[in-house]
Amino acid sequence: MKRKLVVGNWKMNGDRERNQILLREVLQGLPVGVECAICVPFPYLAQAESLLGGTSLGLGAQTLSEFDHGAHTGEVSGAMLADFSVRYVIVGHSERRALQGESDSLVARKALAALRAGLIPLVCIGETLAEREAGETENVLQRQLDALAEVLDADSIGRIAVAYEPVWAIGTGRAASVEQVQAVLSFVRAWLAGRVRDAGDVRILYGGSVKADSAQALFGLPDADGGLIGGASLEAPQFLEICEAAV
Ligand code: PEP
Repeated sequence: MKRKLVVGNWKMNGDRERNQILLREVLQGLPVGVECAICVPFPYLAQAESLLGGTSLGLGAQTLSEFDHGAHTGEVSGAMLADFSVRYVIVGHSERRALQGESDSLVARKALAALRAGLIPLVCIGETLAEREAGETENVLQRQLDALAEVLDADSIGRIAVAYEPVWAIGTGRAASVEQVQAVLSFVRAWLAGRVRDAGDVRILYGGSVKADSAQALFGLPDADGGLIGGASLEAPQFLEICEAAV
């Protein structure tokens, strides 16, 4: 049976001392029966790799280059991430789409680069508040998903995870309602079913202001396979409660 996946996204937070404390606390309370991971900033991959070695907490990164090597100053390739035991990489987070101008097609190429390196891309999709209020949610998601299918073949789509993260719910304290989330997750599942044989095996996560008290209801939705957790992943007790809710 597919286990749920809960991934913490530290974003640009942390330092060596705090990371060590946080990771030790998380490792002490990690539940079984759920797959958990944390996506740390690049400079802390080596530290996290050594603290997580031999544990069940997976290591992730927050982005990668679409290229495998060469003259791309400041970029980090999938192979470099794999070299630090990274298993997951977030691609297309709405902060990068908005602040770094990452387009749908670049996100798709990054997902492909991750797969080439043997990583699992967590592909973020989601609408803004203006798009939702204009009744455009499904069109936006369709566009973001279709861009993936332009670059990834069916086998590759079967190896990604999709994270539905409504932009208006990220870091705002305002999680989407369970009805809103399930409606989108089933839309994504139907999109997957049109492209891959075992669409039920592809994990679909929800992200956006998930807290310990909302996690159980969100993860219990028929098409929810776990969550992507920002702010709440920076505090071990909260993050652990959220992981527990996915067991
Ligand atoms: C995120 O950044 O992916 C996220 C879901 O953030 P938060 O949980 O803080 O809303």
